[in-house]
Amino acid sequence: MLKLEDVVTCYGNIKALKGISITIQPGEIITVIGANGAGKSTTLMTICGIIPPRQGKIIYEGQDITNAEPDKIVGMGISQVPEGRRIFPFLTVQENLDMGAYLRRDTDGIKRDRDYIYELFPILAERRNQAGGTLSGGEQQMLAISRALMAKPKLLLMDEPSLGLAPIIVQQIFSIITKINQENGTTILLVEQNANMALKVAHRGYVMETGRITMEDTAKGLVSNPEVKDAYLGV
Ligand code: ATP
Repeated sequence: MLKLEDVVTCYGNIKALKGISITIQPGEIITVIGANGAGKSTTLMTICGIIPPRQGKIIYEGQDITNAEPDKIVGMGISQVPEGRRIFPFLTVQENLDMGAYLRRDTDGIKRDRDYIYELFPILAERRNQAGGTLSGGEQQMLAISRALMAKPKLLLMDEPSLGLAPIIVQQIFSIITKINQENGTTILLVEQNANMALKVAHRGYVMETGRITMEDTAKGLVSNPEVKDAYLGV
């Protein structure tokens, strides 16, 4: 479904991605784990066209999207849940959801997806007329995921969904990630510092260190790998 081939991304003279290759099959949950500053967010921003790569190729469903504009990439079925949520604080919950569907014209489908989201997150239904900025951190994360889902993505990119949330909310968010994958067949690329949780829900994973992929395996393989255990799982 998605292939990154030797991708290099820079901020000025700083090489944040130093030639990374990642392959994602349809229906998979893939995680990229790594420490602060490893280049995980940059990977997602590069895929969705916000920071185009300096070198390498990005192929999505057989098409070269390396230098495509972000709105075109969203229209092709890739949407992102950004780090830190970035919901629209002065818009209501419902208006935030509508913003996620701004490229769609299928009014019936939009309504169906909104109803599905309100089933998935009943708390958002209760708060549909409340300003996004007044929601709790966990509710804002639910809203950010929902807004991305309103674009009806085939590939969902998630940047640190667990960041700053209480453990119980993190559990809820991760069980929803599995549900979205299983019920809709949505392919998910999940970037996380919380490697324990990410490897529980993912099928396969990549380890990233200072702009390079240093390991790649099934989630099971990574969980039992002594180096991963030592560096990322705290066991
Ligand atoms: P975190 O988990 O802290 O978000 P990360 O793995 O997502 O980390 P990135 O945010 O992708 O890492 O950062 C990769 C490297 O690129 C870091 O060295 C960072 O300082 C640098 N970087 C990121 N954004 C910018 C920017 N806008 N300008 C300059 N350098 C940047």
